[in-house]
Amino acid sequence: MRAVVFENFKTFPSLKDVEKPTPGPGEVLLKVAGAGACHSDVAIFEDFDENNPAGLKPEFTLGHENSGWVEEVGEGVTGFEKGDAYLVYGPIGCGRCKACSRGQDTYCENAATNPYLATGLGRDGGMAEYMTVPARNLVPLGEADPINAAPLSDAALTPYHAIKLSLGHLDGGGKFALVIGLGGLGLIAVQILKALTGATIIATDMKEEAMAEAEKLGAITVPGGEDQVAKIREITGGRGVDAAFDFVGVTPTIGAAMGAMAMQGRLTVVGIAGQPHSWSFYTAPYEVELTSTYWGTIEELHEVAQMYRNGQIVPQVTRYTMDQALEAYQALVDGKISGRAVVVP
Ligand code: NAD
Ligand code: ZN
Repeated sequence: MRAVVFENFKTFPSLKDVEKPTPGPGEVLLKVAGAGACHSDVAIFEDFDENNPAGLKPEFTLGHENSGWVEEVGEGVTGFEKGDAYLVYGPIGCGRCKACSRGQDTYCENAATNPYLATGLGRDGGMAEYMTVPARNLVPLGEADPINAAPLSDAALTPYHAIKLSLGHLDGGGKFALVIGLGGLGLIAVQILKALTGATIIATDMKEEAMAEAEKLGAITVPGGEDQVAKIREITGGRGVDAAFDFVGVTPTIGAAMGAMAMQGRLTVVGIAGQPHSWSFYTAPYEVELTSTYWGTIEELHEVAQMYRNGQIVPQVTRYTMDQALEAYQALVDGKISGRAVVVP
């Protein structure tokens, strides 16, 4: 079968023929319906090296945002019907520790000794015709379209987790949320904020088309530039935003968000650019929280799947065939994707 393989650091991935996997004990073989191309993959093949913070080692099949149909089950697996559609919960922890037992494999206590982080991150992922997944990592989709659902596994789950942890800052009337970076994750973040809060959503991106999309979803947009922070403050009546989500994570975006925060607000850096931000007692608004985030829990993926079935999350998907999979990654590198590129093998 064909697969998009991460062969080495600082190397663009390859479309290769690899062996079709067989499901081991406790695993399910999925015929892949969709595989989202996430910007984190670009960081892996462009920026990471042997000393990468995630401990990733080539080679493996990319694709950590997947959906598919049950093809075959491994030893000991029951309760699955061939042809039923599932979302893949990517993170794979030890399955035994306290974090894994609450469905939060992202913070597995045995991460240091686990063989990989997730499907598509160390273990072969879904940019392939077939993939194997531990049965406990599957979330049923029901009758909903599985191809457009693929981005839910990361592009929706990650902002959903971050927004849920910020809800305490957005409840009550007259609140403001800020979304920076309106790509795969950011455009879904706007939809989740709309569905879960009554906050006024302010959004920004370097790309005009991305801001136009966010406006269609109900956000007020403010372009970048020197007066950006002042404009955001003006919209909030001077008070600043109660919660902000930075899907870029460079020094200027963290700085802009921090400058736009209300006292006691919460800024979550989701983007993995990894740039620093300098803080001092006098420059940050009082009691502002600055935090990071990583993916979400499998319970939250069930909730995201329900929001998709309810029509509250509609991923903006451009479909690519397997032959076009590398084009999809190249377009992502070039900043030419609007919403999410999904490879349909
Ligand atoms: P994307 O390429 O689809 O979207 C990024 C958007 O940010 C684009 O629209 C781009 O124009 C915009 N942008 C870039 N630089 C900007 C700037 N300086 N100011 C304003 N807008 C800017 O990427 P994505 O797949 O949505 O991922 C977003 C980020 O989230 C990436 O860094 C990715 O690695 C990260 N990510 C983090 C997690 C996590 O668990 N923390 C999970 C998935 C993705
Ligand atoms: Zn991702």
